[in-house]
Amino acid sequence: MELELTQQLLTENDCYKAGRHIVPKGVMVHSTGVAQPDPEVFIRRWNTPGVEKCVHAFLSRDRAVQTLPWTMRGWHAGVGTSGRSANNTHLSFECCEPAGHTYQGGEMVGYDVAANQSYFDDIYRNAVQLTALLCKEFSLDPLEPGVVICHAEGYDLGVAVNHSDVLQWWPKHGATMDQFRRDVDQAMRDEEDDDMTQERFDAMLEDYLARQAQLSPSSWSAPARAWAEGQGIIVGDSAGDRHYRSFPTREETVQMLYQLTREDGEAVQAGEGPKDETDPQG
Ligand SMILES: [Zn+2]
Repeated sequence: MELELTQQLLTENDCYKAGRHIVPKGVMVHSTGVAQPDPEVFIRRWNTPGVEKCVHAFLSRDRAVQTLPWTMRGWHAGVGTSGRSANNTHLSFECCEPAGHTYQGGEMVGYDVAANQSYFDDIYRNAVQLTALLCKEFSLDPLEPGVVICHAEGYDLGVAVNHSDVLQWWPKHGATMDQFRRDVDQAMRDEEDDDMTQERFDAMLEDYLARQAQLSPSSWSAPARAWAEGQGIIVGDSAGDRHYRSFPTREETVQMLYQLTREDGEAVQAGEGPKDETDPQG
């Protein structure tokens, strides 16, 4: 299913007003850390001055809402232990969490894994698709180290403040960031396959037919081939290749039929064909 992507830019947020831009080198995945599945709640709260954070998009289970221009510098990572910040390098989005749980010291409390599985599957699929879209747009390789990371990994890499998202949540459903990166890579490949053009198709078909033409004929057709070659119905090309595994065109088909009748005529003249009243030797 195609990701639905809408846009509600947080133009009143101080981050938007700062108006700084970056050259995106990666994507950082966050989750909000609160049981609120509706992105509109965050968009309302964050579209105002005095909010010291801002991301490029929010994900709900049925869509993505872009909240900053992609190349605008977001406020999502803070400064890590290396003194550097993923704000200068990474695009960011928040995954909205389902309703029903609370938090205690960064840990989810009362989270019903089974009941939330389908919600999680939707969010995960949307996260894969949005990350694939961003990687494609900015020519990023999701499998390169440090390119596609979650906030918790950003802390480990020294480029984000100490938050546990999304590792406080995703592993409950058996999802790992390594698998996520592979899924993003696969999604990009699938997307490429969808980018089929007539030109690409023609080139691929031509290639397929050329390879097919080089295959050797099967042994079961040997008597028929010997006969057809003897009759001059099948003749090789200038290199002597007879292309037995190629498809004949209608043009080639009638040429073969024509050759057959011509050879029959010669056979009749040679006295080997069926005799009838018009046979001059009858
Ligand atoms: Zn975060």
